[in-house]
Amino acid sequence: MTIYNFSAGPAVLPKEVLKKAQAELLDYAASGMSVLELSHRSSEFADIIEQAERLLRDLMGIPDNYKVLFLQGGASTQFSMLPLNLAKGKKAYYVVAGSWGKKAYTEAVKLAKSFPFEPLLLASSEEDNFRQLPSFKADEIDPEAAYVHVTTNNTIEGTALYDLPATNGVPLVADMSSNILAFDYRVEDFGLIYAGAQKNIGPAGVTVVIVREDLLNSEPTLSSMLDYRIQADNGSLYNTPPTFAIYLAKLVFEWVKDLGGLQEMEARNREKSGLLYDFIEQSDFYQSPVRYQKERSLANIPFVSPSPDLDAKFIKEAGLAGFKNIKGHRSVGGMRASLYNAFPLQGVKDLIDFMARFEAENS
Ligand SMILES: *Cc1c(COP(=O)(O)O)cnc(C)c1O
Repeated sequence: MTIYNFSAGPAVLPKEVLKKAQAELLDYAASGMSVLELSHRSSEFADIIEQAERLLRDLMGIPDNYKVLFLQGGASTQFSMLPLNLAKGKKAYYVVAGSWGKKAYTEAVKLAKSFPFEPLLLASSEEDNFRQLPSFKADEIDPEAAYVHVTTNNTIEGTALYDLPATNGVPLVADMSSNILAFDYRVEDFGLIYAGAQKNIGPAGVTVVIVREDLLNSEPTLSSMLDYRIQADNGSLYNTPPTFAIYLAKLVFEWVKDLGGLQEMEARNREKSGLLYDFIEQSDFYQSPVRYQKERSLANIPFVSPSPDLDAKFIKEAGLAGFKNIKGHRSVGGMRASLYNAFPLQGVKDLIDFMARFEAENS
């Protein structure tokens, strides 16, 4: 039986990448050592992290005046590292369009009790259960503020931000964890981008931060580990980095490049998600909670059947048929198909066949 992994993260990785890692596992580049055993100060690892950065710069078109950092602590650590570095003594605005954006804002409010800055909720669609993106006017934003924080893809709720908002000249900061490398954003439109790797970049354990140099903090922050400038000055090698995760990310970047880069990824993701959205739309049985077509995520597609009991039955039978991890997030229920870059088109077609059969048997 073919297994399709719909997990929202850690998520499916390209088979080619896993095979390459397997082939190189015991002896990396004729070093007689595994990547897992290499010193982060070795010339072999220096090559790996340099290539990873170069490939990512190439794929995303990252301009020279941006630093690329490979950090630890997940996207969640960025919820406090970001204001610690960028917002001292300033206002910081949050656009809350989903559970992760809410967490980013909540962490900022918590930090503001002990660190001088002013987190402000610019807009939220929580009252509407995040079924659509919230809106705001640029002139509500103080031009002296540190940043406006957005989430480009709401992993749990299935919406995404494609038309970036005007921010009155204030840098836009994005949590891009679930659609980095899946949609072709322009890095110049952001002051800072961060993303946990475990959705589209590689395994869990590394977090990518892309930051415009002029936004780097001028004074040291609370801790060296949480200091963008120190991390940048040390080429992400201030302490021992997650070497194997960075190596796998490098392999994924090579894979994306070989396939044709981000435009090709975006086209494939449009095709995959389009098939599933079209099927859901024509069905009287399944429904998408997302209100507007233009805000639909290419990466995470939540849907429900007519009842929670049928949802449970669907998840059970889907699992037995090889469609794994399709249960929706515990906070929203229903189902969720995460169709990241490495998820194959055939898996979407097979899922649609399964959904049609389930509908015929249960309606
Ligand atoms: C998964 C996810 C996170 C959390 O990432 P961690 O690396 O587990 O901290 C944050 N934001 C978004 C948008 C996510 O999808």
